Amino acid sequence: MGELSAAMARVPADEVDREIELWLGKICRALNLDRSAVYERDSPDDRVRATHTWVRPNFPPFPRDYDPEKLIQQSTNLVMSGKMLVFARPSEIPAENQDTRRFVEKYGPKASAAIPMWAGGRVIGAATFGKFRTTRAWPQELLDNLALSVRLFGSAIERKQSEMAIRAVRTELRVASRRNVMSELVASLSHEINQPLGAILSNLGGVARLLSQGNPQPAMALEAVNSAIDDTKRTAEIVRRIRSMFKHHVEHKTALGIGTLIDEVVKLTTGEAALRKIALQVEVSPAAQRVIGDSIQLQQCVLNLVMNAFDAIAEANSARRAVIVKVAPEKTGWVGVSVSDSGAGIAPAVASRLFEPFVTTKKDGMGLGLLVTRSIVEGHGGRLWATPNPDQGTTFTFTLPVADRKRVGASRRA
Ligand code: ADP
Repeated sequence: MGELSAAMARVPADEVDREIELWLGKICRALNLDRSAVYERDSPDDRVRATHTWVRPNFPPFPRDYDPEKLIQQSTNLVMSGKMLVFARPSEIPAENQDTRRFVEKYGPKASAAIPMWAGGRVIGAATFGKFRTTRAWPQELLDNLALSVRLFGSAIERKQSEMAIRAVRTELRVASRRNVMSELVASLSHEINQPLGAILSNLGGVARLLSQGNPQPAMALEAVNSAIDDTKRTAEIVRRIRSMFKHHVEHKTALGIGTLIDEVVKLTTGEAALRKIALQVEVSPAAQRVIGDSIQLQQCVLNLVMNAFDAIAEANSARRAVIVKVAPEKTGWVGVSVSDSGAGIAPAVASRLFEPFVTTKKDGMGLGLLVTRSIVEGHGGRLWATPNPDQGTTFTFTLPVADRKRVGASRRA
């Protein structure tokens, strides 16, 4: 018990599940039990589902598609109300728990203890411990210790859930702030450029008027033209500054694991995916090698494509709601990263202008995501293109150079 409580207190949030499964095995082996499971329910209105299981090798696994709410609903309700359901042999199963009796006849445990899982003052799930082939007594002290173990699982799960919730909020904020950076950039860019453009327009308008009157005041016309030249130079300078801001980043190229990079983006988007009820699937081919690139910029590329894929699904209100991010070798020396959605495909009105600035079909869209993504990809020597899926939706793919020794050396020197 001491070891278990230390382990549950120490384990980091993302390893709680693995640790619980490990301990189900340890407890079963120590007590000569054969099968154990933990069940969870997110809120009293949600269904109870099996979340962790352990089965002794060569013993019957849990039934396929095991759903406690279907198979043993009445007993599940009893345990979720905070009571234990314990029997040392099948004949001891209380008459009112017919569903457990039927389950035992069909699936065979001879003895079992189902224990509610408390976290604070709530039952958030349960754990069961089963013995097959022979009966088994459950002395009170043993039940007390099992109940305590399950309570330790419960607090670890509760800690995991609250940490995950905090993380989801944090990553949503990061996604939002990345989006805001873009929209602020565009806002300030258009503000700065609109002003000299307005001045150029009014100066040239004045010159046109003077010319149409036979140019009665040449000095004034010259001044207006000179002033338009200055404003044009200013505008060009603003554009140059902004381009160098983008270029500045590309110098942070290193050899990086593309799988890790994708994982980072997936972490950033899980909150949004859950919110929009979209399944985000990642398939990284083991043959995919390291690539050369700027990790922040490449994350931005994947993030843009994934967000577009989410938008496409939301827009189409698709029944299938899945986004697949795939990494696989392309032609020799290149890795391909593709983002596939189950949306309605690209609107014909924008299909030929996807990568042009300010082309958007979205109410709040800026029409810059694909342009920026393509310019980053091309800055890495790769290409970005879109293809319609055979069944539904679109796949955007970009390529990146594989990091071989020669290239890493070259980029370090640079
Ligand atoms: P924004 O997302 O702000 O509109 P983008 O440059 O990222 O800007 O995208 C431009 C347009 O391309 C979108 O408005 C949309 O019409 C289209 N598009 C992008 N990705 C997809 C996709 N996965 N499925 C369908 N259309 C897409």
